[in-house]
Amino acid sequence: MTAHVYDQFSVNIDRGKLFEQLHVVAGSDDAGVLDEMCREAEQIGRPKVMARTSYIEEKGTDFVVVDGIRLSSRVLRVNVDRAYKLVPYVATCGLELEQWSKGYTDFLEQYWADAVKQWMMRQAVNAFRSTLGDEFGLTQTATMNPGSLEDWPISEQQHLFKLLGDPESAIGVTLTDSFLMIPSKSVSGICFPTEVNYSNCQLCPREECPGRIAPYDHELYETKYTLP
Ligand code: SF4
Repeated sequence: MTAHVYDQFSVNIDRGKLFEQLHVVAGSDDAGVLDEMCREAEQIGRPKVMARTSYIEEKGTDFVVVDGIRLSSRVLRVNVDRAYKLVPYVATCGLELEQWSKGYTDFLEQYWADAVKQWMMRQAVNAFRSTLGDEFGLTQTATMNPGSLEDWPISEQQHLFKLLGDPESAIGVTLTDSFLMIPSKSVSGICFPTEVNYSNCQLCPREECPGRIAPYDHELYETKYTLP
């Protein structure tokens, strides 16, 4: 199955939430500047997602082979124990916003522009995930991202890119030799069907992470994912 590109997301930045995240006081001069940046980004921004349906061909102890490509992760292997299909994806804020953000040279404004790009990318990912039932026939899903856990290092991004084909031509995302994505506000991952809640954060001990969405469960790896 060929990959699809999704780029028609509605892009509205919730000023209240963004101001709170960036500690900007509503009504202040800073709020006026940030609001104008949001307005520009909403006009220019075109976040994108590239995704496809892929099928699991082999399951090892700490890897799966998906459409001929080996993905090495014990956690992924266990998480897809009952699955036969997956949805690999790459999402990005888009080259339009990447270019827009380069116009800001002030340190604080660059920081805000990064936050705006992150917001746009997240909106696209959330909108994309809400279509997984209709578009891919997956109703209850969880996501794993290469680089989030030691178990599935960032170098595995090269395999996700191979699975998708040519994300550079399709959505303008390139992978560097050190496996970082450009634009930097891009994310790759695999959505998989699951009947139990799963989040990378449950296995990640990092403290005070602003992106944490689930508490660290220090027993989970040992009870569920250690090799027999
Ligand atoms: S706690 Fe933070 S770094 Fe760790 S998996 Fe969650 S979002 Fe990623």
